[in-house]
Amino acid sequence: MDTRLRVLLILLSSLVAGAHGADAKQCSRFVTAQMRANAVANAGKLEWAATEQRNAVAAADRWASMTDEQLWAIVPSQELPRDIHVSQAIGCPNCGKAIDKFGNYPWTVDFWNRPWTIQCPNCKSIYPKNDFYAFYKTALDEHGMFRHELGDRSLLFNADHPDPKAPLHKVYVDDGYGMFDEKGNKFVAIAYYVWLGQWQAVRSAIGALSRAYTLTDDRKYAYKTAVLLDRLADVYPEMDLDNLAKVGFPRSYAGPPYLGRIEDHGWENDVVWLVAHAYDYVFEGIQGDQELVDFCARQSQKYKLADKSSIAVICKHIEDNLLVDMLKSYKDDRISGNTARIRNPAAAAIALDRGPETEQWLDYVFSPGFPNERYGGGTGNSIPWMLIEGVDRHGMGNMSAGYGRFVSSTMRDLADVLCAYPDYRKHDVVADFPKLKQCFLIDARLNCLDAAVPNIGDAGATGGWYRGGNVTQFVRGYRYYRDPRMAALAAHFAEGDAGKYRLPEDIYEADPEALAGGIAAAVKDEPFRLHCEHLGRYGQAVLQTETPQEGRALWINYGYGLGHSHADCLNIGLYAKNLDMLPDLGYPEYTGQSWPNRFAWNSHSVSHNMLLVNDTACGGSPGGRINLFAVDPPLRVMDVSSKTAYPGLRTYRRTVALVDISDTDSYVFDVFRARGGKNHRLIYNGPAQTATVAGLQLQPQATGTFAGENVKFAEFYDGDVIGYHGSGFMYLYDVERSGKPVDTYLTVDWKGEDLRGRIAEGKEPHLRLHALSPCDEVALASGDPPQNKVGNLRRLRYVIRSRLGENVTSQFVTVLEPYDTAPFVKQVRRLQVEHDADPDSVTAVAVDLADGTTDIIISCEERTSVKVEGGVGFDGQFGMIRVVNDQVKTMRMCNATLLRKGEAELTAPVAAYEGTVTAIDISDPLNNRVMLAPPLPQDDGLIGKVIHFQNDLPLDTSYDIKAITADGISTGDITIIRSFKDNADFAAGYNYLVNPGDRYAVPIVVGRDF
Ligand SMILES: [Zn+2]
Ligand SMILES: [Zn+2]
Repeated sequence: MDTRLRVLLILLSSLVAGAHGADAKQCSRFVTAQMRANAVANAGKLEWAATEQRNAVAAADRWASMTDEQLWAIVPSQELPRDIHVSQAIGCPNCGKAIDKFGNYPWTVDFWNRPWTIQCPNCKSIYPKNDFYAFYKTALDEHGMFRHELGDRSLLFNADHPDPKAPLHKVYVDDGYGMFDEKGNKFVAIAYYVWLGQWQAVRSAIGALSRAYTLTDDRKYAYKTAVLLDRLADVYPEMDLDNLAKVGFPRSYAGPPYLGRIEDHGWENDVVWLVAHAYDYVFEGIQGDQELVDFCARQSQKYKLADKSSIAVICKHIEDNLLVDMLKSYKDDRISGNTARIRNPAAAAIALDRGPETEQWLDYVFSPGFPNERYGGGTGNSIPWMLIEGVDRHGMGNMSAGYGRFVSSTMRDLADVLCAYPDYRKHDVVADFPKLKQCFLIDARLNCLDAAVPNIGDAGATGGWYRGGNVTQFVRGYRYYRDPRMAALAAHFAEGDAGKYRLPEDIYEADPEALAGGIAAAVKDEPFRLHCEHLGRYGQAVLQTETPQEGRALWINYGYGLGHSHADCLNIGLYAKNLDMLPDLGYPEYTGQSWPNRFAWNSHSVSHNMLLVNDTACGGSPGGRINLFAVDPPLRVMDVSSKTAYPGLRTYRRTVALVDISDTDSYVFDVFRARGGKNHRLIYNGPAQTATVAGLQLQPQATGTFAGENVKFAEFYDGDVIGYHGSGFMYLYDVERSGKPVDTYLTVDWKGEDLRGRIAEGKEPHLRLHALSPCDEVALASGDPPQNKVGNLRRLRYVIRSRLGENVTSQFVTVLEPYDTAPFVKQVRRLQVEHDADPDSVTAVAVDLADGTTDIIISCEERTSVKVEGGVGFDGQFGMIRVVNDQVKTMRMCNATLLRKGEAELTAPVAAYEGTVTAIDISDPLNNRVMLAPPLPQDDGLIGKVIHFQNDLPLDTSYDIKAITADGISTGDITIIRSFKDNADFAAGYNYLVNPGDRYAVPIVVGRDF
């Protein structure tokens, strides 16, 4: 440590300890004095570090150049409302719903050049039409806080119509509480500006100034940060969203109470994160700063505020009225401590850094009672609960795609936060909770084709591709675990650019190149291969090609207990020809409970590629189980069932296979079986607004919707918006119907459309659906994706095949053919089968390809002995035969003992290895062991295969076999712990996903190429 630094530290500790007690904060924790010194030194000798420092200074100087008084005055107060929607019902006062195509929060704001106004990105109109700032200044009370009733109302008029007699004199005039058009419709222009303009400015300033201090050690930036934090601490105790809800600003989520502080109770966490870091960053930089004391004391006197007579008092003011007040807000839920947020109170407690008091707050986030009675007792949300149950065995959070990944990222951040505070020794998240490691890997496992996380639940835009993962998270993971998989992922995501291994925090290191160098050394030169993945509780299984180039990926959803889920059990998706061929609608227009098309359409089963039963949605995230998951190209097949999708159903089960016909093309074979309930309707939506039907004449329905000729679009004919359990059919319009039962083969072809530039010049991607099974009606209808997501199509065309009646039994057979320009399937035929099982449990089809090849596909619900026309014998669950020029070229069979056509034959002594679990051993978290009777053969070929544990849990308990032992298998570092036995008493032990007495099955895949 250099002398200058040591002197500063001695000075600091004497000042602080003398000022307010031995437990007072002593030093910065997240970026220490040594780290600041490293950053300055690095910027002096390394070009990238100098650039980082320069950029930080440039971002901060805009704020630093403001006078102290100006900076202080940008912080608004409680009674200036903030809202996130100007008018959900109308949109823009001038161009209406046309603004929706610019996203959920479309209005633009410009703090620097157009303060106190918002602009429509579509028609460029600017609102409000009055000079709000003139009014604002007159409405400030003696403490400098906005009090609506104090303002000079003579200043409230439309500046374009200053004549009081003009009809528009008072139109589009906002006093902070909303403006009105000629018809009296309300728009909250200023509240939107306050949210996205004014408060964001405050946050940007705090962030930029405090970061500049850490990279320069220049106390000027610490000073300016403190000006803002001190003022924020003046206004923060009053900040409360519920009090604003009472005057008409409820934000978007359900209440009352409408919980929150500056932001709603979820988003307020970002404010906590910012304030905790900024205060801690600049703490050392403001010690002994008399100029700061003088300014704060002067403001305090002028505005009749609290005592600001010393740095210690100012620090205590910031700590008590920001950090402690925020921490207390977790207890009353004004700040949400739900699953996605836990890093933030931990950061606040560490920034507070008051010895025993900080220890108590950290104990609190580790305790079963965290955060409050609303969550406690039943579900928990504390760090131990999160890392035992809240995050699943694959490291995915307990929510839909985007939200679940956010939960996982929060857990990764938590590791970084707690590492900054070694004084707390009761828990070590990295050592004590081995599952945390999976949070660093999960994003890459969620991707299809290394390019897109499926839109499961409230996530993404319709047909949008969003890749999960980034270099930084894999590098951070490597820093903790030294796992070569993380180095490999970092290298893959960096696309060979080792410069990208550098973390934002490396600049604070004495050797800032050490970690990046370690990664570079650990990376092996291996080709990147895609894997077929199945993620148990999250419930995403993917069959995909081995390389992403011209790749195809088929996914199915069977998630259990996920927040923000849709009613989408056994929904499928397909990425092919660079398009999302079965686009899920994804994130709804708005997530409010009362937004009509959210539950009745967007998240309803009716808008998904799945089977609708009883003309109502299935349960949200009811869970399903994989019965078969087999990969042996050209065949990849999975079979998933759910006992809980619809109450009372005897069967709800889907078998899907991805079958390659070349390096660039595959088709999908899809069998949906269901027993029980009324009206089975199998629904698909392709990637286009129109679809062409061949093999069937459809009659346009003159009026109405799929709900009937007399039911108008969006008319709630079978239930209320709140608590809706109806069909959702009123959202399907432009209906065409067969008007009679259909028992012939037909096809539906969508010529893919895309507004995101995914279709390359000269390409013409299509999806063609081949429908084989008889049904009572075939209908086409249009339905709308959310209209406020950039790039969403105006509508999609749906095909609905219905089998009507009570206690229906169905076996829907479908082939999906994604092709470019010219189809590769000539036709699909149903083949005659002979067997003793339920007729709806077995099907065989021939897929005749354009090049003369014929594939014979046999699917049985359970292992069945079957004779198929054309001299085919089969005994098993799933079989495939490829015939070229009357010669059998390829055979595959899964969970089967026999497949034969003519002379060509495949046999296996057993279809699956089966038996009973005798014991489990979790003593080594890197080697979770399950003992089996009988044990599996000592065959390395079984490593990587899937073992299904059969039990009564509603979620899937299939695992990849990582190792074969003498007495069983290892699942490697994928845990078999399901949850705590008692969320109120972590010492009471665990529940497991696999238990002695469970049956197990390892279906065998056998293949032969002739
Ligand atoms: Zn407009
Ligand atoms: Zn969905």
